[in-house]
Amino acid sequence: MSTNKRTKAIRLQKLPPYIFAQIDEKKRELLGQGRDLIDLGIGDPDLPTPTPIIEELRKAAGEGRNHRYPSYGGLDEYKKACARWMERRFSVTVDPKSEIISLIGSKEGIAHFTQAVVNPGDFTLIPDPAYPVYANATILSGGTALYYPLLEENRFRPDWNTVPEDTWRGVKVVFVNYPHNPTSATVTLETYVELVDRAKKFGFIIASDGAYCEQGYSALPPCLLQVPGAKEVAIEFFSMSKTYNMTGWRVGFAAGNKDLIAALYQMKSTLDSGVFQPVQYAAIHALNGKDEELIGPSKDVYGYRRKLMVEGLQRLGYKVFDGGATFYLWVSNPKGKSSVEVCADLLEKGIVVTPGNGFGAAGEGFFRIALTVAEEKLTEALKRMASK
Ligand SMILES: *Cc1c(COP(=O)(O)O)cnc(C)c1O
Repeated sequence: MSTNKRTKAIRLQKLPPYIFAQIDEKKRELLGQGRDLIDLGIGDPDLPTPTPIIEELRKAAGEGRNHRYPSYGGLDEYKKACARWMERRFSVTVDPKSEIISLIGSKEGIAHFTQAVVNPGDFTLIPDPAYPVYANATILSGGTALYYPLLEENRFRPDWNTVPEDTWRGVKVVFVNYPHNPTSATVTLETYVELVDRAKKFGFIIASDGAYCEQGYSALPPCLLQVPGAKEVAIEFFSMSKTYNMTGWRVGFAAGNKDLIAALYQMKSTLDSGVFQPVQYAAIHALNGKDEELIGPSKDVYGYRRKLMVEGLQRLGYKVFDGGATFYLWVSNPKGKSSVEVCADLLEKGIVVTPGNGFGAAGEGFFRIALTVAEEKLTEALKRMASK
């Protein structure tokens, strides 16, 4: 503890342990013992980045002008490509100069944005369960996270009417994330319309995480900026990571209200120095490309795995929630077991999954499966799960 005090700022001590890092540690320990593990734990695509995108990187990496510091907010061509993509995909018009900023991935963007707008003592309102960054970035900013539960009976969609008026009045930023990690749930535009109404009435900011916006299997998910007037109150985060199997490349962008973009720009220009230009050129190629070539094939693979796993798990007696998007499945625990117990049992059988409570208290009772391994491994995982 005393060492901790010397080596860690108080705000860092306040962070809960990062669940993915913990699982990773346990996994490495077992792998070190020579165990053969099937890792359904982390949402990191196993499929390669499409070749044309890699080719673009190769080409741009050969040019000396691309080896210098990039601009903080992104190349003009990059921001224009992002704006064109918003127009094409969502019919949303944004000004590339003032309403777009490049990101070193949306995780970075969300964390820096939170610190750019949240004061010590401020409140944020966060989905439970959720991707851990919204709450952790709130803590790093000296703020306090409040939660709205995503419940099974609502198909893991928010019921805004259950949030007390005092909360709406007191909150600085409300986070939304659809399609949703970890539950795979989706919403219709109506959910966003109701939230934007409240944001205007009560004066809070909306931060929408659209990391999985291209991973809808039956319908294309909407984005929050499609709500008329949303730009007055909202910023939305997009990422190449999941869409184009580019998690390691670290590139994304934020779009929305120009004052919020400007605050994020100020924070980022203080702390980082932008995205390597060849990566931006490759991302431009992705955004300008044909979805059926660059996204379609991966979606087909995830769709096939999804079906395989949903059917297999149901055959084993599991209750599986499939919201129709993302590459996750949200599975109910067998009766009488906690999420941590289920995950420990599965680890014994050589399968890594993520306990639902790691995403928040409302995640207790569930575990998350990531469909980011090959079909043979999924089949083998089902076999192991069936064994006593
Ligand atoms: C993966 C993920 C991100 C982060 O993606 P980046 O690689 O940082 O762009 C953001 N939000 C959610 C919900 C995610 O699952």
